[in-house]
Amino acid sequence: MEIIADLHTHTIASTHAYSTVTENAAEAERKNLQVMGLADHGFKSSDAPHIYYFINLYRIPRKLGNVTILRGVEANIDINGNLDMDEYPKIFDRLDYAIASMHASTMEMGHTKEEYTAAWLKVIKNPRVDILGHMGDPRYPFDIDTVIKEVAKAGKIVEINNSSPETRKGCEPVCLEIIETCKKYGVHITLSSDAHFWSMVGQFDWAMSIVEKTSYPKELIVNSSVKNLEAYFNNREGKGKIDF
Ligand SMILES: [Zn+2]
Ligand SMILES: [Zn+2]
Repeated sequence: MEIIADLHTHTIASTHAYSTVTENAAEAERKNLQVMGLADHGFKSSDAPHIYYFINLYRIPRKLGNVTILRGVEANIDINGNLDMDEYPKIFDRLDYAIASMHASTMEMGHTKEEYTAAWLKVIKNPRVDILGHMGDPRYPFDIDTVIKEVAKAGKIVEINNSSPETRKGCEPVCLEIIETCKKYGVHITLSSDAHFWSMVGQFDWAMSIVEKTSYPKELIVNSSVKNLEAYFNNREGKGKIDF
């Protein structure tokens, strides 16, 4: 399986990541990726960039070397299913895309499965959200069938996060169930590195192995071709077209 885009990378703007945009893009080029997405943390993470970072993100050129750069965010979901970035709608709207994820600094653990299910169901309806980040985190259990069925209706993308086995212990059976349910409902997925250091950009080995177990249809893997990326990103209501 060929993957040509990594839509989930972090830079030193999130202070628990250790490489620059330039270093990440150079690694993307070395690994023959055509597209790299910047998805630093929404401003409510404890170590996130200031909101000004997102205002000015358009300064980063669309192309670095041969790599197309997408300017995005990994927004934080709270227990009510709201996103931190929604507090600045104009800034949020200027970004190319958004991942929405649950993180310890902005989402408490120990809520019920019903509460996390309700949070995801609200996120899915948020028109600014494109990708649902590392859903297979066992610390935030949810009703997989109910949520993925709604993801299919909303036409959003589910992320298979290559960093999950390291940082979200016990994620594998949950991730596999999520992928199988996505396949059942014909949901788009993306494989992401969630790189926090340049050498991790374009690393998809674990994600690829788990996706390959399910013989996932290639046309539903958004980052397996520029054509698939265009089909998703250039057909969104209210968003300009991206020149990949
Ligand atoms: Zn995350
Ligand atoms: Zn991340």
